[in-house]
Amino acid sequence: MPELPEVETVLRGLAPRLLGRRFVHVVQRRPDLRTRLPRDFVRRVEGRRIDGAERRAKYILLRFDDGNVLVLHLGMSGRLVLLPRLNSPPGPHDHVEFTTDEGAILRFTDPRRFGLIDLVSAADLGDDKRFNGLGPEPLSSAFTPEVLAAALAGRTGPIKTVLIDQRVVAGLGNIYACEALFHAGLSPRRRARTVRGDHAHRLVAAIKDVLSKAIVAGGSSARDYVQASGELGWFQHYWAVYDREGKPCPGCDCRGAVKRIVQGGRSTFYCTKRQR
Ligand SMILES: [Zn+2]
Repeated sequence: MPELPEVETVLRGLAPRLLGRRFVHVVQRRPDLRTRLPRDFVRRVEGRRIDGAERRAKYILLRFDDGNVLVLHLGMSGRLVLLPRLNSPPGPHDHVEFTTDEGAILRFTDPRRFGLIDLVSAADLGDDKRFNGLGPEPLSSAFTPEVLAAALAGRTGPIKTVLIDQRVVAGLGNIYACEALFHAGLSPRRRARTVRGDHAHRLVAAIKDVLSKAIVAGGSSARDYVQASGELGWFQHYWAVYDREGKPCPGCDCRGAVKRIVQGGRSTFYCTKRQR
């Protein structure tokens, strides 16, 4: 499932090619993905100029010249690829295509259809339930050890499960929560409220570091994810613990102590020796 680094990588690939361009032609091949696409979607998007492109949590937001915002989410298996021109006929999972006035094609592909495409007025964005409860962006200066410790105070669940709650910090998911806890030396089973002081400093530093390095690597391509260019990300080769059950972790002599447990229905991987 694409997390913050993957969505950020896609955005950085798209923004230079889309800003200031218009979508002159839109093809919608099905009425819905995770939810129905908005009424009159094609008519409302055709002819619009893209004046802004940004990421919030795991959403990509394209701001149009008419005050509407195109909200995109890749869900579990979504891909947003920018083709310089139409070079292949659509496959069965190529659900929506946007052609720019340059002739480039932005193609939304999603085999499992947990992705989302919506159109929201910019004025309503602040009240949108998908955005108004989100925690701070982890790479922003607003995400500090004090802010994290305050969000974790009183939370008795395991830190790993609490950390992927988007109200605590936005955009962090299963993979990068596991990796950040490893680099911070903290057990995913530790009660969230005990992460404060030095622990919170280490965890915030580890989250920022692992996300930044993953963005540089173009994200992690575990299954479906590709960059906007269609290229794979390669951060999966740097995973210390995620999906490495029974293997040695880098950074200690545990010789295969990486363990997989299930927390909140999701797999957690950690080094039982190094993480306390
Ligand atoms: Zn280890």
